[in-house]
This record gives sequence, C-alpha cells and structure tokens, in this order.
Amino acid sequence: MQSRMAPCKYRTGRMLGSGTYAIVREAIHIETEEPYACKIINKQLLEGREYLVRNEIAVLKRISSGHPNIVALRDYFETPRNLYLCFDLCTGGELFDRICSKGSYYEADAAGLVRTIFNAIQHIHNAGIVHRDLKPENLLFCTPEEDADIMIADFGLSRIMEEGTLNKLTEICGTPGYMAPEICLEMGHGKPVDIWAMGVVTYFLLAGYTPFDRETPQAEKEAIIKGEYRFEPEEYWANVSDTARDFVQVCLTADPVHRPTAAQALQHKWLASTTPYFVPDP
Ligand code: ADP
Ligand code: MG
Repeated sequence: MQSRMAPCKYRTGRMLGSGTYAIVREAIHIETEEPYACKIINKQLLEGREYLVRNEIAVLKRISSGHPNIVALRDYFETPRNLYLCFDLCTGGELFDRICSKGSYYEADAAGLVRTIFNAIQHIHNAGIVHRDLKPENLLFCTPEEDADIMIADFGLSRIMEEGTLNKLTEICGTPGYMAPEICLEMGHGKPVDIWAMGVVTYFLLAGYTPFDRETPQAEKEAIIKGEYRFEPEEYWANVSDTARDFVQVCLTADPVHRPTAAQALQHKWLASTTPYFVPDP
C-alpha cells in the first residue's frame, strides 16, 4: 500500500454511495485500468476529527493481512481539501438494498450470509478490533451475482481494543436501531456490541424489517434497553424455524457478558448445521 499526496494516479467515475463524512466514487487506476472504490472525505466536514480517519486507516492496516470477506484498503493519499481511501471495488451493492428488493431472505440463504459474516467478525475480534457499525449498509456484495461473496466494509467507527480493556469504550456511537443496550446505557462496551448488531441484521434478513423500529428515537432506545421485540406480525415469521429465532434471541442477549462470542455464535445449531432448511414453495 502506498501513501501519496496527489490523487493524479486515478480517474474518478460514478458515485457508489455516501455516508456521514464521505462520498464513495469509483476510481480507475490510470496505469493499470484497475477499478477501485475511493472514499473521499472532506477535511472541513471532519472539523478537526481527522483522527477518525487516521484510526480507520490504522485499523485497516492491522487487518491488512487480509480476509476474503473484509474490504481491503489498497491506497490512501490526501490533498489540502480531502482525504482519499482506495478500497477493492464491490460492484454488487449493499445488503440493505438486496433485502429491500427481495422483501426478506430464505432462511438457508440468510444462514449462509450470517455464517460468512461471523467468520469475518471472528477474524476482526481476534485482531483486537471491534467494528461498532455493523448494519446492512456496511455489508457489500463483491459482484452483482445472486451468490456473490459478502464483505464487511466501513471501519470508520471501529476501535482497537488493547488486551485487558474489555468493555472499556464509552462513546455513544453506531446507528440507533443496531445499538446494543450497553451503548444506550453508557455502561462501557466492547466486542459484544458487534454480536448484538448481527442479531438485528439477522432479524432484518429473515423478516425484512428491524426489531426495534419505533415512532421516536427515545422509544427506540427504551425498546432496546428493555429488550422489547417480537417475532411478529406472524405472517412475516411463518416460514422461519425455531432454530433461526433462537439464534436471533441469543445474539440479542441483553447482558453483554452472557452474549455469545463470534466463535460461540458459529457453533449455534442454525449456523453449524449442514442440513438444508425448509424452503417454502414459491
Ligand atoms: P461512511 O463511513 O460515511 O458510512 P462507508 O465506508 O460506509 O462510509 O461508505 C459509504 C457507502 O459507499 C457504503 O454504504 C457503500 O454503499 C459505498 N461503498 C463503500 N465502500 C465501497 C466499496 N469498497 N465498493 C463499493 N461501494 C462501496
Ligand atoms: Mg457506512
């Protein structure tokens, strides 16, 4: 990976997405014609919080040994106005859009995706990193094919947790509907928040809507703290097995100490099972 001041090596193309501080555009490497995804962050918008991006780069370097399901950083550089981070390009779009266009996933397909994501989370956690913003907008497909590989992206809110600093992060962060109760309660948090967020993602995959969606942010926060969610309306859950529901439930364990680790989640019957799931008639 190289660091350069001038972005003249690339030609920018279509817009791929945008987030809180960044817009992401396709960028073609002029010499190799290789396409990348370039996250362009306006320094002025960061208002002195450039450390957030330096942190993102540090985290990405730490896991740069590579995992097939983590979007790799290939290059970065800056101009007086912007910071540029170049990633491998995922052309298949966000999991969010796929759930929205399908309505929801068949259970077997959902389990396959969730298993892959948990393997990548295990890798991240073993490297001492907590992602803190897992949600379908940050899970991207490599290609437009139906069975494309899924990738974890956006390490903008992630943190490196030194040994022995379990549950010591304190800022309120993340995306409200995916936030674990210990974040809402400002009790200090750590890796278990990623497992909680995956409970919400799994619920979303199976039902097509999220479990804690409420009229106001305050009501949403209260529902999260009280663990108030149901597998309802019944018509959305009719074809979902008890094993899948149990998986969601254990990921949404209120107490982070009793929530499974990524390794334990991978041992759950829903993910460990090799038998095919019930697929309803079309
Ligand atoms: P933010 O921190 O602002 O949320 P992200 O890193 O999540 O920024 O990028 C914003 C959006 O840009 C993503 O949700 C996705 O749609 C798109 N995007 C990000 N990285 C890539 C990539 N490597 N390939 C394709 N699209 C990407
Ligand atoms: Mg994002």
